[in-house]
Amino acid sequence: MAKQKQDLTIGIPRGMSFYGNYPFWHGFFSALGFKIVLSDPTTKQTMSEGSALVVTETCLPIKIYLGHILNLINKKGVKNIFVPSLQSIAPKIYNCSKIRGLPDLVRNVIKEDFNIIEATLDKSIKKQGLYEFLAEAVAPFGITDMEKIKLASKQGWKVYNNFLVMMRAGISYKKALKNALEGKVLIESQVDSKPISVALISHGYNIYDERACMKIFDKLEAMDVKVFTSLQLTDEQMDEGISSLGQKRYWANEYEMTGTAGHYLKDNKIDGIITLNAFGCGPDSLMIERIMRKAKELNKPMLSLTIDEHTGEAGFITRLEAFIDMLYRKKRSKIIKDISITEYEFKPQTNICESVLLDN
Ligand code: SF4
Repeated sequence: MAKQKQDLTIGIPRGMSFYGNYPFWHGFFSALGFKIVLSDPTTKQTMSEGSALVVTETCLPIKIYLGHILNLINKKGVKNIFVPSLQSIAPKIYNCSKIRGLPDLVRNVIKEDFNIIEATLDKSIKKQGLYEFLAEAVAPFGITDMEKIKLASKQGWKVYNNFLVMMRAGISYKKALKNALEGKVLIESQVDSKPISVALISHGYNIYDERACMKIFDKLEAMDVKVFTSLQLTDEQMDEGISSLGQKRYWANEYEMTGTAGHYLKDNKIDGIITLNAFGCGPDSLMIERIMRKAKELNKPMLSLTIDEHTGEAGFITRLEAFIDMLYRKKRSKIIKDISITEYEFKPQTNICESVLLDN
């Protein structure tokens, strides 16, 4: 009997780690000959269908993720959906329990006919490195050749590094992702200086999902505000940021929150800090509390926004506008104060006259 050809189609939900890791997955799976099917961008329906599956207290990103799984199940030809369990991304650095238990959560709440392609990354356990994780992800497809897997991972890193280079150069997330997936690196000349700069502190799944964050980048852009995020920083800068808040790295997403905030709080070019977190997120509520205390100490303006599936856009915009308006007023009054101090402190050069008088 002829051997049946393995179905190398993999569905990837546009949620959770997608926003940080997809360039890698794209390079990796494509190099192994997979056809990748992504779920559609988040809509109201994605949110409401995902929310209906879990208790209200569950955070919004998880509800959205579940909605994306349903979206993939409804796509023709998608039987295998990639749901990694990212336990620990470095020794003793852990993800929150919801991210760690994602495959179990999906399995328990969605009783449809599909295969969960589950792989566990736990760098706190000996011998559980990236290659073991990748091998586990492709084993259900009959791919076991470790050399092939390592080569494919190189391709993954290539796409990911190109993406990161563009993000660090200040290119928008959408453009950087599109170009990286097309194998291109685009570097634009940086001419877009704006009167106000803010640091947006959040997880990728909160701010790069346009529906979840209600297009916060577009809204700030329309207010002539330049936005900085964790993706513009190096690991070293975020490590220093964590230390400057007197903390040690524990949570996997501590870089995105404490590390990024710690860095930008010390940066004089940054006029204010905006944190955006999902209602009910335990790790974020701890981290934001610390950031807020440091912002007060350093007299840096800070706005803390919380989102859930009921967050209304009107209230969101009002708070954002009021904050940015305050930053503009603060900046104007500082400029005026600096000008008046210079005038007030101006002293004519008297030493020449004095020396003339002394000579006489
Ligand atoms: S870190 Fe917070 S927002 Fe992210 S999955 Fe965990 S609880 Fe939800």
